[in-house]
Amino acid sequence: MRFFYVIVIFVGFLNACSSDKVVDRVYQTKNVVVVVIDGPRYSESWGQTGRPNVRYLDSILAPVGCTHTYFYNLGETFTTNGHTALTTGVYQSINNTGGEYPQNPGIFQHYLKKYPDESNHVWLITSKDKLQVLSDCKDFQWKKKHIASTDCGVNGLGTGYRHDSITFQHVMNTLEIYKPKVLFINFREPDFSGHKGDWAAYIHGIQQTDSMVHEIWKYLENDPVYKGKTTMFVTNDHGRHLDGVSNGFTSHGCSCEGCRRIHLWSFGPDFKKGVVLNQPAELIDVNATIGELLQLHTLKSNGRVLRELFN
Ligand SMILES: [Zn+2]
Ligand SMILES: [Zn+2]
Repeated sequence: MRFFYVIVIFVGFLNACSSDKVVDRVYQTKNVVVVVIDGPRYSESWGQTGRPNVRYLDSILAPVGCTHTYFYNLGETFTTNGHTALTTGVYQSINNTGGEYPQNPGIFQHYLKKYPDESNHVWLITSKDKLQVLSDCKDFQWKKKHIASTDCGVNGLGTGYRHDSITFQHVMNTLEIYKPKVLFINFREPDFSGHKGDWAAYIHGIQQTDSMVHEIWKYLENDPVYKGKTTMFVTNDHGRHLDGVSNGFTSHGCSCEGCRRIHLWSFGPDFKKGVVLNQPAELIDVNATIGELLQLHTLKSNGRVLRELFN
């Protein structure tokens, strides 16, 4: 009998030694789409009475997903900084003009390290050309490796911004042709019009991006490749100054509540439906949650997995 126990312990030891491969937890999610609406304030979006500028998110999308009402950018409230927090899971003080790569690899690189043959299925599509830097990083072990397909700005880094309607068309074409498994989208509005100080165009920008998000979700819900297997996050990189702080809605970049408080809506087969969540959450948590859904074990996110979303 004692000999039997010794054998059992020895076999157990051998198994422990050989199981260096991490076993993946299985989720229904096979594809992840992240839509970043650049720079609306909470007060003109979900936080506004009646929510007139996010009609689709309020009446059609929120009822089938989760809405975090206390969601924040707790890093620097600029565009490249906010997007870097989302893709890498680390708040970084980074050049905001596209002149610097993130320090750490993003979800694209982690995904392609795990699935090296999938580069046609990992896409970064952005209205702002500078966001192409998200596809690579400065870490010498990752630099220039596992690079996503990119479609940024007019024609890549350094070529300028393009209109969101062009980005939207490219997103729909890419969904149809390449069926991305990881897709990260940036729409430049309402930030672009906010910086011009054009209130009407800023509001219109929120409404337009709300409508585009709805179109993307409709596609995902009706396409046989995506239906029931796809999680979508809709969020922002930063808000804008509160009225009375600096030049108000025209700009952003400080730690005021207007710059920090943003939005997160989450939809997918592994998530609850029609739930409003009051737990505080922040940009880097989206990164950690994507890492969990796609089981990206190499990802070193400083965020927490948003367990409150899960069924
Ligand atoms: Zn921005
Ligand atoms: Zn501010």
